[in-house]
Amino acid sequence: MTTEPFSEKHKHALFMNKWTSLNNEVIAGFTTKQGGFSNAPFTSFNLGLHVNDDQSSVVKNRELLADQLGFSTARWTCADQTHDNHIAKVSIDDTGKGVFNYDEALPATDGLYTREKNVLLTLCFADCVPIYFIEPVEKIIGVAHAGWKGSVKDIAGEMIRTWKEHEGVDSDNIITAIGPSIGACCYVVDDYVIGFVNEALQTEQNVPYEQISEGQYALDLKKLNRALLIKAGIPAENIEVSSYCTSCEDTLFFSHRRDKGKTGRMLSFIGLKEQ
Ligand SMILES: [Zn+2]
Repeated sequence: MTTEPFSEKHKHALFMNKWTSLNNEVIAGFTTKQGGFSNAPFTSFNLGLHVNDDQSSVVKNRELLADQLGFSTARWTCADQTHDNHIAKVSIDDTGKGVFNYDEALPATDGLYTREKNVLLTLCFADCVPIYFIEPVEKIIGVAHAGWKGSVKDIAGEMIRTWKEHEGVDSDNIITAIGPSIGACCYVVDDYVIGFVNEALQTEQNVPYEQISEGQYALDLKKLNRALLIKAGIPAENIEVSSYCTSCEDTLFFSHRRDKGKTGRMLSFIGLKEQ
């Protein structure tokens, strides 16, 4: 077992310090639900603009995170996430869009990457799987949002193929991390979903789910995405997996399933800072 990649705990976020040690310009992590301005059911560090929370509270939360990270909201990139597999290459010209107005976010995008400094890639989560990518020598960074739909549409593999085809990157040199998300302990799905999982993996060996009753399965979305990364050419030793379950860890995280849909959003973030 690997050690927990999201190891440095602050009130507002868990950081991947190991990635910063790979390249000291990188800042990467995942926020908690703690220490913000939002009221129930978004108590309290809700970073999603699209969940019917009071907009001014979300703006205050976003500004608070910007201060903590030393990354101005003018340099954030936000996406309108649709549980699909579209990936956008982001430049400094895309920053600031959607930070305070959801309608201006990058349309229909669930994966972001950049080669540029001073761009903070952000995506919103409440149980779905955040997947982080870095090529530390070429200094390319990325992040993807994978719920079950994005996972079976192989957004993880899409990112790798995009970097190979458009950026000339060798998959052996890409390092990845799978962040806090709902675990198999708390995620039951039916035959309909499992059919797509089998289709995506094209194997029924070593499957990332267990049948728990007739037509009911405990699905491990992290394990599914790990398998898809390996299928896309990432060496197993280049994949770290967080052990955090967003549903189990009630004090740390919002959870769409646990909170029955009425809840806030955490933010995954990754950026290269000018030193
Ligand atoms: Zn759990």
